[in-house]
Amino acid sequence: KLFNEVQELKGNIRVYCRIRPFLYGECKSSTTIDYIGENGELLLTNPSKQGKDVHRTYKFNKVFGPAATQEQVYLDVQPLVRSVLDGYNVCIFAYGQTGSGKTYTMTGPNLSSKEDWGVNYRALHDLFQISRDRKSNIMYEVGVQMVEIYNEQVHDSFCSLNIPTLGIWSASQPNGLAVPDASMHQVTSTSDVLELMKVGLANRAVGATALNERSSRSHSVVTIHVRGADKKTGATLRGSLHLVDLAGSERVDRSEVTGDRLKEAQHINKSLSALGDVIFSLSQKSAHVPYRNSKLTQVLQSSLGGQAKTLMLVQINPDAQSYSETSSTLKFAERVS
Ligand code: ADP
Ligand code: MG
Repeated sequence: KLFNEVQELKGNIRVYCRIRPFLYGECKSSTTIDYIGENGELLLTNPSKQGKDVHRTYKFNKVFGPAATQEQVYLDVQPLVRSVLDGYNVCIFAYGQTGSGKTYTMTGPNLSSKEDWGVNYRALHDLFQISRDRKSNIMYEVGVQMVEIYNEQVHDSFCSLNIPTLGIWSASQPNGLAVPDASMHQVTSTSDVLELMKVGLANRAVGATALNERSSRSHSVVTIHVRGADKKTGATLRGSLHLVDLAGSERVDRSEVTGDRLKEAQHINKSLSALGDVIFSLSQKSAHVPYRNSKLTQVLQSSLGGQAKTLMLVQINPDAQSYSETSSTLKFAERVS
């Protein structure tokens, strides 16, 4: 390790929960959630039940309430991001039903306003700042890939969606690239990144009849590869950061959907359970980790397990109508934490 300024984190898997605020037009009085941010505790109340099983408490490493800013959230993510410069592999992913704020947290609502930037931009900006400060001893190179996983097929978000789907290599490849054929863009500044992300986001839009529809049913994975070389000794290190905006976790009523929609739902279900299974087996320290059960877990393999650090951002809605989705989201999180 070349540097170790980063505060060591206790476990390799941590889970934060973020509650999005009520949106315009939503009824504020009908909530199911109480939380104590400092303790990482959240109390979920079943609006339809009477009696004993009405309340349930969930515990996280951290809970962000509806008033938390993008900056506040990032401050608690920053140590993980910075550890990439020390050669760690890190995976940060947002999980939750469609509309719960996954894209808000990862990308942000508005790229032209810095305050609105989500984790993706802040992370890249941060990596550039630090790598520049340290340039006297270490030369860093930063490359970015972006892929979309839709119906168990991997597409390069920097190319138009009509190109063939991409293969995945085993994580033990010498260059450490899980998707070697996805285009890699070297970036040297935050503005490079903004330009690049615009291309990625625009390509997702081109391929979809309705952007929101499609983006809620695919996983978006931004991968930042960092390579550092010590100018004096020539020692090198590599670290990578996966930033993942997952497909919506909502359960689809099988009696109501057919054809393509059903196939999509089954693929999402399969890949999210595969992710849950991988993290669960890591938390249990199992000898066998079932990475091969989905494209998603294969793409993320190098940043799940081993020395890698994983952060799950659990996104939930505040309203009572979302109770059953919120409850299943919290149960998913509880199983892996
Ligand atoms: P998802 O990606 O999970 O489907 P979005 O990120 O698109 O959800 O969020 C749904 C809506 O809620 C958007 O209009 C978004 O701007 C808004 N929203 C989500 N989180 C927040 C937040 N923390 N503060 C303000 N608005 C939010
Ligand atoms: Mg989204």
